[in-house]
Amino acid sequence: MAFKDLSLHSALLDNIKLLGYNTPTPIQTQVIPAAIEGQDLLGIAKTGSGKTASFVLPILHRLINKGVANQKTRQPKVLVLVPTRELAIQVAEVFQSLAKSLPKPVKSLAVYGGVSINPQMKSIFGTDVLIATPGRLIDLEDSNAVDLSKVEVLVLDEADKILNLGFQEEMQNILTLLPKERQNMLFSATLNKKLEEIKKVLLHEPKVFEIKEKAEATELINLAGYFVSDKKKGPLLRHLIKEKGMQQVLVFASSRQRADKVAGKLNKNGIQADSIHGKKSQAERIDILEKFKSKKLRVLVATDLISRGIDINELPYVINYELPRSPKDFVHRVGRTGRAESEGLAITFVTRDETHHLKVILKKMKRYMDIEDTAEMDF
Ligand code: ADP
Ligand code: MG
Repeated sequence: MAFKDLSLHSALLDNIKLLGYNTPTPIQTQVIPAAIEGQDLLGIAKTGSGKTASFVLPILHRLINKGVANQKTRQPKVLVLVPTRELAIQVAEVFQSLAKSLPKPVKSLAVYGGVSINPQMKSIFGTDVLIATPGRLIDLEDSNAVDLSKVEVLVLDEADKILNLGFQEEMQNILTLLPKERQNMLFSATLNKKLEEIKKVLLHEPKVFEIKEKAEATELINLAGYFVSDKKKGPLLRHLIKEKGMQQVLVFASSRQRADKVAGKLNKNGIQADSIHGKKSQAERIDILEKFKSKKLRVLVATDLISRGIDINELPYVINYELPRSPKDFVHRVGRTGRAESEGLAITFVTRDETHHLKVILKKMKRYMDIEDTAEMDF
């Protein structure tokens, strides 16, 4: 199957080529035709498998064909909801790079909290595709900067996260603002909620088109583990970075304080590091992530804030400095590496009393992992 067989507009095919995509990924092959038909669907596929383009392409195709693009109103035709600000920016970038030089320009815009709302209020004018985090979207609605009554397509990226408790109230609020007649598309690597429950959230009876792929089978990601006491985690981290010559490594810590501490300690030991988490200003977050992506920063220590959806080209290493609470978080964290068919290594630090928890995670992932004991290691 080639992109040209998916009956996409030819201008889109040119942009696909410019991005260097040769063939559609399996999720793209399956989702794009159904999405063009206007069906409601669930796209479930492993991390890094190209889910973003699988909704961006049919949406752009629809906007070109319907000739509704570039309307001078505050009524976006497409709404994409994402759980984090960083993901909003990233998804908007994918829309923008696939919407270059279209016969009718399509304007996409990311809106998210933590930055001043005024520029966003102005920019919404003429926006066709709005990519938003739920909280800021509601603020914009409240100040009449956006009218959601003309939305034709709703996308939930990282849908299980958007549909979980933390966003429940905001989601209910947003759904009442949308027209009942619309296309709904949900995407995630870990969407295991019951279909009935999802149908309820989507309000009207969706024709559900489910793509089944082994979502947890992130087989290009090599897993390695180390039994290590809390006290020796810092030295082990420095040892591994040096020994393996890691030049770009994403480290996950369990809290904001821990992330800061781990990064500080690395810097003290001559390894360039910074941290990213919800306590930092949005400007700082954007700046740090950008530096890390462009390899100007060697080690990024993060909370689960960036475990969802963030795409870092050919990131070779992820390290779990601490085990995440849920198997889902583990899947998403390690899924920052091994993207788009590249290989990656995910290393996990485990204390002895976490052995059972780790077993639960690995069982859920249907993966085995060798765990080395650091008691005998010299570092
Ligand atoms: P997911 O949302 O499934 O985790 P993304 O949509 O973020 O994955 O895509 C992961 C990476 O794969 C991105 O860098 C993207 O540019 C790239 N990609 C997407 N589709 C293709 C394709 N058909 N061929 C090659 N690379 C692709
Ligand atoms: Mg994604």
